[in-house]
Amino acid sequence: MHRSPSGPEKVPAELTLGEVARILRRAGLRPTRQRVALAHLLFAGGDRHITAESLHDEALVQKVPVSLATVYNTLHQFTAAGLLREVAVEGAKAYFDTNTSNHYHFFCEHSGQLLDIDTGSIRIEGLPEAPEGTTISRVDVLVRLVDKR
Ligand SMILES: [Zn+2]
Repeated sequence: MHRSPSGPEKVPAELTLGEVARILRRAGLRPTRQRVALAHLLFAGGDRHITAESLHDEALVQKVPVSLATVYNTLHQFTAAGLLREVAVEGAKAYFDTNTSNHYHFFCEHSGQLLDIDTGSIRIEGLPEAPEGTTISRVDVLVRLVDKR
């Protein structure tokens, strides 16, 4: 299977703001106050899945003055810089993952939560040939869940 190129080095938990600024600089992003504050919220707690709305809520609780539009733009900038991975889920909301390694997800349709699936527990076979001039960069698997009745 084709793997996406390895992302930036693993971000450690327990980050200081200075370390966050260094990570942003290394990813080619200017460490503005808002970016540092949002990156600290994102990466200080270990791997997780967030939406712009949930990160915006956290920012407000932490008294980080930032608009939802800025959170949304920042998440896309971090994704383009390889610090986050966008997870494809149908619907209006974009989900972002601080774990940029190749892995799959359960999506709970009722709670809207994403959960990691152990990569070893799914095997993908019979992938089609990539069209001329392209190569497969990665395969996303989303296993949708509903509550049992
Ligand atoms: Zn994940």
